[in-house]
Amino acid sequence: MQKNVSLAMGNGGLENNELITKVFYKAFQNDILEKSEDAAVIENGKLAFSTDSFTVSPLFFPGGDIGKLSICGTCNDLAMMGAKPKYLTCSVIIEEGFAIRELEKIVHSMQKELKKNGAIIVSGDTKVVPQGSVDKIFINTTGIGIIEQKGISSNNISKEDVIIVSRDIGRHGASIFAAREGIELTTTLESDCASLIQQVEALINADIKITALRDATRGGVSAVLNEWAKQSNICIEVEERSIPISDEVYGICEMLGFEAVNLANEGTFVLAVKQEDMKRALDVLHSFENSVNAVEIASVSDAYMQKVILKSPHGTKRFLDVPTGELLPRIC
Ligand code: MG
Repeated sequence: MQKNVSLAMGNGGLENNELITKVFYKAFQNDILEKSEDAAVIENGKLAFSTDSFTVSPLFFPGGDIGKLSICGTCNDLAMMGAKPKYLTCSVIIEEGFAIRELEKIVHSMQKELKKNGAIIVSGDTKVVPQGSVDKIFINTTGIGIIEQKGISSNNISKEDVIIVSRDIGRHGASIFAAREGIELTTTLESDCASLIQQVEALINADIKITALRDATRGGVSAVLNEWAKQSNICIEVEERSIPISDEVYGICEMLGFEAVNLANEGTFVLAVKQEDMKRALDVLHSFENSVNAVEIASVSDAYMQKVILKSPHGTKRFLDVPTGELLPRIC
C-alpha cells in the first residue's frame, strides 16, 4: 500500500477496501466487524449498531442537505439489517464563522428525517474549529436499531436468490456532481436521498424471505454486487438492460464519462430475495413512490466465483469490477 492516504482511499471501492482491511480491520479484528455488514449485529441478534460521517459538498443540494443525509445514512444502514432505527447520537465539527441560520436549517432537516424513522437523538457532541480546519461542517451520526427480522446477511446469498434494485440508480452522485460543477439542467434531477425503513418494514410484514439488503451508497450498485459476490462466494450475473437509469442520470454519465452503476445513491437499495418471493417483493416495493420502478436486475450462478458479470443487450459479457480511482470525493 502507498505511504499516504489518497482521495481514492475514500471512494467506497477498491482502494477504500484496501485501507479498511490493511489498517482498521488488522488492528480491530473481531468476529462482528469481520462480517462486514451495513450495521454490526450485536446482543445475540437483537440490536443493530452503525456509524457514519457526513462531509458532503455542497451542504445543500437538490433533494436534500447534509442534515437529511446524516439521518438517512445511519438509519438506512440499520434498516438494511432488518432493524428499526431507535436511538442516535450526533456529533458535529463546525468551522468558525458558520452561519447559525444554516446550522438551524440543517438541524431542522435532521429532525424531520428522524421523525420518519421513529428515532431520536439521545446524545451528542459539538466542536468548533478555527477557520480552514474543516470545510463548513462535518456531521457524524451513530445509531442503534431493534432487529425486526433476524438473519439478514450479505454472507448468505445463494443460487436460490434473485437480485432486485429498488429504483433507478445514480441520482445522488449525478445531482451532487451537477450541483458542484454548476451544470445547468433543463430537467429537475434530484438526489434519491430518503429513509428506507418503511419499505423494509413492509417487506418484513409481507413475510418476504429476505436474504440480504444493502443501500447502494458510495461505489454504487457495482460496489454492492461485488461485495456480495465476495462475501457469499457466488457469481452475480447482471442483465445490463434491466438496470433502471433515468434519462437525466444517463445524460450526465454520457457527458462526463461516468458509469451509472458506480454512482452513489442515498435512498436506493439492492435486495437478494428467494426466487419464489420475487414477485411479491416487487409488488410491495411498487406500492411506494420511491420504488415504483423496482426491478429484478441479476441472478446468482457459479460461473465465476466472487465475480460480477454484466451481460449486454447484444449478448456480450464482461466483468463488472469494483469501482476504482477518485470517484467523487465528499459525495456523502
Ligand atoms: Mg450502507
